[in-house]
Amino acid sequence: MPLLNLKNQALALISQTVSGQELAQLRIAFLGRKGQLNQVFKKLDKVNYGRQFNETKQAIESALTERQTQLTGTTAEWFDLTAPGQLPPLGHLHPISQAIAEIQRIFEHLGFTRVRYPEVDWDHYVFEALNMPADHPARDEWETIFIDAPAHPKLGQMVLTTHTSNGQVREMERVKKPPIRMLNLGKCYRRQQDPTHTIMFHQFEGLVVDKGISIPHLKGTLDYFGRQWFGPKIKSRIRPFHFQFTEPSFEVDFTCTACNGRGCRFCKSGWVEVGGAGMVHPKVLSAGGIDPKKYSGFAFGWGVERVLRLKPGLNIDDIRLLYSTNQEFLNQF
Ligand SMILES: [Zn+2]
Repeated sequence: MPLLNLKNQALALISQTVSGQELAQLRIAFLGRKGQLNQVFKKLDKVNYGRQFNETKQAIESALTERQTQLTGTTAEWFDLTAPGQLPPLGHLHPISQAIAEIQRIFEHLGFTRVRYPEVDWDHYVFEALNMPADHPARDEWETIFIDAPAHPKLGQMVLTTHTSNGQVREMERVKKPPIRMLNLGKCYRRQQDPTHTIMFHQFEGLVVDKGISIPHLKGTLDYFGRQWFGPKIKSRIRPFHFQFTEPSFEVDFTCTACNGRGCRFCKSGWVEVGGAGMVHPKVLSAGGIDPKKYSGFAFGWGVERVLRLKPGLNIDDIRLLYSTNQEFLNQF
């Protein structure tokens, strides 16, 4: 069985090779014109051994090819030390955290200092000191969540803060003597839930108190924020409104970023309301121990989620998505 012996010998040698060079040598040794296969076949009866010759040749050919694939495959995996590694997928900060960091940065450029005040606070700081005495109808606008705990004899009941304005009088009490440039940024709570409201949300509250502060200072601050946040082409306007703790009070609009103020389905008028602002009411200054005859100030309190959903290119229809675990949505930020 000379052909069978030859085949077994060839397959054994092929399986032991460690390089393409060795394979090439074996190919010549067995299948070359003067190779062993031809040498053996020369001595055999061509008619009876023709088919076996072809089978042996094919078996050696395919063993060579297979071993070649094994060797090149293994080589690429083991020895390319310069191939870049695979990085593990990196997460990122939640879009609300990103927005908070950016808002803080913008106001720090104007000299504001970020502070934090309680998110569960006395009625006094949330309403009373802001010129909203008990039973005042203006309180109805705040869907307040009350804490089931004994009331303080002077400061009243505890509530979940409905706005970051509770920081105004607390900041005046802390600083005692103006100037004040406060950015109070924190969580607020109201009993409402729909596409543009969540029970828990974030507000940022600006408060500036000093000698000679007037409406143009407020307008300039809002314009600066608008340009930084929405882009250089943005315009703002203030409309008369009413809040208990500012006089005069305004609502602040910015030009719609979807249509650049021309008017579209989203904004209708070309303007989008962003939040409230105004000049600090003298009674609020007095409540914080500051003489309203010497000092004046402005304040504004806006929703982080609200300014985020209006950012150019976002136009988030339902802010509840921000608090969902929808990865497809969150991964876009
Ligand atoms: Zn528009």
